[in-house]
Amino acid sequence: MRFDIITIFPNIFDSYFNESILARAKEKKLIEINIHNLRDYTEDKHKTVDDSPYGGGPGMVMRADIISKAVDALVKSETKKSRVILFSPAGKKFTQKDAQRLSKYNQLILVCGRYEGIDHRIEKYVADEIFSIGDFVLSGGEIPAMAVVESVSRQIKGVLGKEESIEEKRYGVGVPTYTRPESVNIKGKNRVVPKILISGDHKKIEEWRKDQIK
Ligand code: SAH
Repeated sequence: MRFDIITIFPNIFDSYFNESILARAKEKKLIEINIHNLRDYTEDKHKTVDDSPYGGGPGMVMRADIISKAVDALVKSETKKSRVILFSPAGKKFTQKDAQRLSKYNQLILVCGRYEGIDHRIEKYVADEIFSIGDFVLSGGEIPAMAVVESVSRQIKGVLGKEESIEEKRYGVGVPTYTRPESVNIKGKNRVVPKILISGDHKKIEEWRKDQIK
């Protein structure tokens, strides 16, 4: 899987993508993450990527011509299975199902909005998917892009090692987990691990886990 992220803040991604599971997935060449500075696609001296909104109003809008140029430059013609993703608090809620579905593509191009958002023509004529990551407003699409890259990568075979167990695939999300010590004093009370988990009865444990997420 190849991820291409278009942003005006390319440095935001470095530390997160160079740690842990994603760093290993890149090393193993299971994923490739390329960060592109939108300003590299401008032609003026000041590298302007935004302008004031038609019809008036506060804030600035990211220009359609520059984003469209950046996307065109990044779509790999040999990569037939490519998808352009936009972020908006008004988009469709991004879910685990989307992460699974998107992991089947070869290339995802993620466009990070800033300011008041992106000229609507990009949503209408360029984007294949428009996602919200929740009912709240962030200052940009960078955190949503990181969330999508990570959740999609986790669906790619070989990305999760044994250590980062694939429990979510066996049972679904939300199985409660416990580790030693067996009894922990929390605010003056001893809180213990559910007995079933220390019973050694693997069949019963499996049933219990399945029950927890129903
Ligand atoms: N005024 C705009 C919000 C702009 S927020 C509006 O009313 O829609 C700036 C950018 O942050 C957006 O273009 C989008 O890329 C990103 N963003 C903010 N909140 C988001 C959310 N909940 N989910 C996905 N992207 C979000």
